[in-house]
Amino acid sequence: MLSLEGATVRFGARPVLDGVGLDVAEHEIVCVLGPSGSGKSTLLRAVAGLQPLDAGRVLLDGRDLAGVPAHKREVGLMFQDHQLFPQRDVGGNVAFGLRMHHVPRDQQDVRVRELLDMVGLPGAAGRAVAALSGGEQQRVALARALAPRPRLLMLDEPLGQLDRSLRERLVVELRELFGRLGTTVLAVTHDQGEAFALADRVIVMRDGRIAQSGTPLDVWQRPVDEFVARFLGFDN
Ligand code: ATP
Ligand code: MG
Repeated sequence: MLSLEGATVRFGARPVLDGVGLDVAEHEIVCVLGPSGSGKSTLLRAVAGLQPLDAGRVLLDGRDLAGVPAHKREVGLMFQDHQLFPQRDVGGNVAFGLRMHHVPRDQQDVRVRELLDMVGLPGAAGRAVAALSGGEQQRVALARALAPRPRLLMLDEPLGQLDRSLRERLVVELRELFGRLGTTVLAVTHDQGEAFALADRVIVMRDGRIAQSGTPLDVWQRPVDEFVARFLGFDN
């Protein structure tokens, strides 16, 4: 459903995305791994329409998205740094996308409650965002990204600040939820365990290129080169 062809982004002379080609199938869950600065967030932002390409194309269902503004791309994005609306309470943040999608008011409340339960923040709808911890804000941002049930959902380090037990529980619930809703997912994570539990396929990025793409087992058992092997922690 999603294709990138030669996607290139330069900051100055340096390519941060360097001719990336990628096909993501409907209902597929793809996790993006790679060192800091390898272009993972830029890749997501380019697909979301927040980062213009210097060359190449992004296609959704075969349609070239060039010139389609971010809010018309029907993709959900959860940012690495949350970007919650500080002047709205938790419920207002989660419901934000629902309002834009004209979901009726009573359904909004039900869905907000369901999502807050799921991310482990039951009854938090009336709380002020500023009074939440980093991990709690991250869970609100995750709920907000899930709320409109976008066909294509992109998550940038969705569980990065959560403790291990919550992360392990959420990964299982998210995978189940994505399966139930048929959501196609492109998710950045630095946690290999999370990628391997969540993903149908992982891609490993290096300097703006895809160093390897394969099933988690494939990449784990047969890293294509020394870079990927090192990155996965096989030091010798
Ligand atoms: P991390 O794991 O740290 O989040 P990342 O893989 O998501 O890293 P990106 O945020 O995509 O990396 O950034 C890739 C490179 O592009 C980095 O070297 C970064 O400094 C640079 N970069 C990103 N955004 C800009 C910008 N707006 N202007 C200039 N350089 C940028
Ligand atoms: Mg990033």
